[in-house]
Amino acid sequence: MKVLLKNCKLISMQEGREKIEDNVDILIEDSYIKNIQKNITDDEAQKVNLNGKVVMPGFINTHAHVPMSLFKESVDGYLLQDWLEKKIWPIEDKLTSDDIYKYSKITFDEMINTGTTCINDQYFNTEDIIKAANDKKIRIELTRTLMDSDGNGKQRLDELKYILDKYSDYNPNITFNVGVHGLYTSNEKYIKEVTDFARKNNLKIHMHFCENSKEVEDIKREYKVEYPAQVLEKYFRGIKLILAHCVKLTDEDIKILKELDVSVSHCPVSNLKLGCGVAPVQKLLDNDINVTLGTDGQGSGSNMDMFETMKFAALLQKGINENPLNMMAYDVIKLATINGAKALGKENEIGSIDINKKADLIAIDLESTCVNKPINDIFSTIVYNVKGINVQFLMTNGEILLNKI
Ligand SMILES: [Zn+2]
Repeated sequence: MKVLLKNCKLISMQEGREKIEDNVDILIEDSYIKNIQKNITDDEAQKVNLNGKVVMPGFINTHAHVPMSLFKESVDGYLLQDWLEKKIWPIEDKLTSDDIYKYSKITFDEMINTGTTCINDQYFNTEDIIKAANDKKIRIELTRTLMDSDGNGKQRLDELKYILDKYSDYNPNITFNVGVHGLYTSNEKYIKEVTDFARKNNLKIHMHFCENSKEVEDIKREYKVEYPAQVLEKYFRGIKLILAHCVKLTDEDIKILKELDVSVSHCPVSNLKLGCGVAPVQKLLDNDINVTLGTDGQGSGSNMDMFETMKFAALLQKGINENPLNMMAYDVIKLATINGAKALGKENEIGSIDINKKADLIAIDLESTCVNKPINDIFSTIVYNVKGINVQFLMTNGEILLNKI
């Protein structure tokens, strides 16, 4: 199966390539990009004429809870812990297999229609999410969320082991990590057990971390530490970590994160909605920590639109640091693409567009709405003015999943 994309304005996000390449063609064979140059001809290939539309890597959303489309705009006015305990968990306890499958598919449709090709998920009823992901042909890393606040941690870990045994070789686009809900919903003994498991099986850990002030206080009390990153230092060494949120970090925490194999998933919309605060993203970047972007579940993040997430991320750092030089547009796009791939250890496959990489890409029509015109700077237009609904074409693993051309 060959696809030839004609007349692309390519923003590859690939080091060593020009930032913008006008009027190039991209030849895709099976799941891989085989050639990028002007005037490619191939009689066998299905041709899609993009007529100068922007082609860029599909977004990588590094923190989500896929079935949470169910909770879109259902609650307002709650802090994180009350929101979870009073509004979310009681409903989640009653969800059926069919619910998880149905609401996962709604999220995957939303992703596909707004430009995201890969997502890092953390939830339960993992088999139903796998089924939905397989049906919708998206790329996903997922898990069975682990926590032990109710004493049922062992059962959850057994469920994760079952998933890993059954599905590790099921679909190459569906990969797995160890999802830990948080240090505050676990305890020292359980954290030791799950980190040993991750290390032994060479799996990443995806965990909420320092989302708000109350969480930080709870961790300090439970683990008897001065700052939460000391728990990471003690138990998480040698494990590739994706830490969602990282809103309430001290300089001491950042010093430790820098020494570990950490990527941060910054979820600005969710953090603002739940009154958590604003993560010190510029400080993390200044310390060479890999920062990526996530939406979180739609219950707090509202939607899957990574353009919206990029805009919030950029504006917040410029504003809180009183420095417009923070988070320049091209660098913000990196957070949503290649940095996400690095967090998942997939940077040789996805996150940028180049020969021999997987074809996970989108096309946007910048001219389709008057909002974007005139286009003075293309990268700033993408970060500040484009919306997910402007995405007209999306391909994951070489398969066309959206085509409004
Ligand atoms: Zn979350």
